[in-house]
Parts: sequence; C-alpha cells; structure tokens
Amino acid sequence: MFKSARVQLTIWFTLIVMVISLFFSAIIYQAIDIHLVDTFRRAEGRINNRFGSPLPRDPNGNFVLSPTEIQTLFANELTEARHYFFIRLLIANSIIFGGSALVSYFLAGKVLQPIEVAHQEQIQFVADASHELRTPLTIMKTSLEVTLLDKHLNAEIRQTIEENLEAVNNLQQLTDRLLLTSLNETQVADQNSKIEHVRLDQILKSVVAQVQILAKSKEIFFHQSMTKTSLRGSSTQLYQLFLILLDNAVKYTPTHGKVSLQLIQQKGKIKVVIKDTGIGISKKDMPHIFDRFYRADPARTKSETGAEGFGLGLSLAKQIVIAHNGEIEVKSKLHQGSEFVVTFPSQ
Ligand code: ADP
Repeated sequence: MFKSARVQLTIWFTLIVMVISLFFSAIIYQAIDIHLVDTFRRAEGRINNRFGSPLPRDPNGNFVLSPTEIQTLFANELTEARHYFFIRLLIANSIIFGGSALVSYFLAGKVLQPIEVAHQEQIQFVADASHELRTPLTIMKTSLEVTLLDKHLNAEIRQTIEENLEAVNNLQQLTDRLLLTSLNETQVADQNSKIEHVRLDQILKSVVAQVQILAKSKEIFFHQSMTKTSLRGSSTQLYQLFLILLDNAVKYTPTHGKVSLQLIQQKGKIKVVIKDTGIGISKKDMPHIFDRFYRADPARTKSETGAEGFGLGLSLAKQIVIAHNGEIEVKSKLHQGSEFVVTFPSQ
C-alpha cells in the first residue's frame, strides 16, 4: 500500500516540477527566439546599408553574394541558432526530469515514513485489542452455553442467558473480523513484535482448563498427553489457535463422545494433534472449512450438536499457523470424527 503511494507521490512531484520547468523553458525559448530574429534583422540591415546597390563583385566581375543568397544565409543561421537552443533546453529538461524523479522518490519516502509508522501502530493496536478481547469472550460464551445446558433453568433466566449469549456471539464476530483484517496486513510485523520463547505445553494446559468446562457438561471424555515443549512464537496467538481447534472439537462432538489432545516432537518437528469422535466434515466441505464465513451444513450441525458459529475460527487459526511458519492439516470422516494436526518447525 505504501509502496504504491510512494510511486504515486513521486509521479505527482515529478509532474509538478516538469510542468514548471517546461513552462519556463517555453518562455526562455520564446525570448531567445525574439532576440535572435531581432539581431539577425539588424545585421541584415547593416549589411544592406554598407554595400547598398549595386552589390560587390569579385576581381573576375562576379557578384560576391546576391541579396537572395544573403537572406538564405541569414535564414539558415537563424534556424541553426534556434535548433541549438532548442536542443540545449531539451537536454536541460531531461536532466531536470531525471533529477526531480530521484529527489521526489526520496522525498515521498520521507513524507510517508511517519504516516506508515502511525498506520502500523494503529493496526497493531487493533490486532492486540481484538486478541485480548477474543479469549474472554470465548470464556464467557462457554460459561453461558454450559449454563444453558441445565434443564432445570427457569424460563425467564434462560431467556436472559440466551440474549446474553447472542450479544457475546455478535461481539466475538466483530472482534474476529477486526483480528482477521489486522492479521492480513501485519502478519510479519505482528509476529516480529511479539515473538518470544514460549512453553507450548503450558499454553495447551491453560486452553484445556478452559475447554474442559464445556466438555464436562457434555460428558465428553477428554484425553491429553503432552511433553515439555518450547518454541518461538506469540503466546496470545498460540493460545487462541488451540482454543479455536479444541473448542471446535468439543463443540462439534455430541454428548458422550471423545476428544483427545497430543503434543509430540517428531523428526525435528513439533506436532499438536487434536482428535474428536464428532460429526465429521464431508468431502464436499473439506476444501472450504478454512475460508472466511464458511460453515458446513449449519442445519445438520445444529441438529446434531446444537453448535452455532460464524465460520471465522478456522480461517483465523490458519492465519496464526502461517504466521508461525507452521502447517495445518485435517482428516475427517462424516459421522466418525475429525483430526486436526498442527506442525511447527522445532527450534
Ligand atoms: P465456526 O465453528 O464458528 O462455524 P470455524 O471456522 O471454526 O467456524 O469452522 C468452520 C466449519 O468447519 C464449521 O462450521 C464446521 O462445519 C466445520 N468444523 C470445524 N471444526 C470441526 C470439527 N472438529 N468437527 C466437525 N466439523 C468441524
């Protein structure tokens, strides 16, 4: 974005300089031309006065120059002088064009630099704010969903909780959109500013603590196996990535199902495997699940698990994986379950 702005500014600066330069060149050329014509006319007059008629002859009696020849000579001289100044002005303008383009490019860069910094900071702020908001919102959402599972809930309270849940859903959708927009623009910047050594097993443990509330309420058997693992990355983003994947696993698994989480180091790679025995993903939906706003058969999903969403989680998850130089793969069979594998290079 700023590169094209810099080029545009350079073109504008150069155009302005060139218009001014060409304007003054035209005036200079006009003045020189008037001056030349004047000088040549005066010289011609002086020659005519000096020699008068009859015109001089050489010792052999031939005319040295006829009046027409003198006029032609002057006309040629005038054209040559005009040509000389025209070429000089053209060269001067070409040098001004090249020089002004270079100076303009440099100046455009200087002018845009503080704006670019301010823009980056603003996007960074939006990314940080939405990162910070997403997690508490997911936690609130989970608690409200768990409360709604209580069959003895009084109708009035149920309605209030449902309304709250809807509001939280809307807020989460909004923060997801903000986060996705900012991540697109600042993936690298975002990564650089927050990268640190993090303990992946500890991050996963705190995600599990969160997700287990919902798993327990759905009587889902939760299994986990982890080894002590460190990697360089953003703890907030990694927390969010695995919260999305584990939340989905529990969300899309009907009651009494199984969800497992495995953290392994294999052949110089760090692997996180999240497996569930849920509703699965059809072959038709598989190529689209990482697309923004894509939801596989929402009616079937809702009837089988009661789960609702906005189709933004996996798209965000993929962005985070890419920002950490990782890969994400899915295997799934309809009505049997899904397996999401996230692989990072180990450091
Ligand atoms: P959301 O869950 O908010 O709808 P996601 O981007 O997280 O959005 O997921 C996109 C779609 O992928 C979901 O609508 C769902 O159909 C499917 N999906 C994701 N995870 C699973 C899973 N573990 N089991 C079955 N389907 C899943």
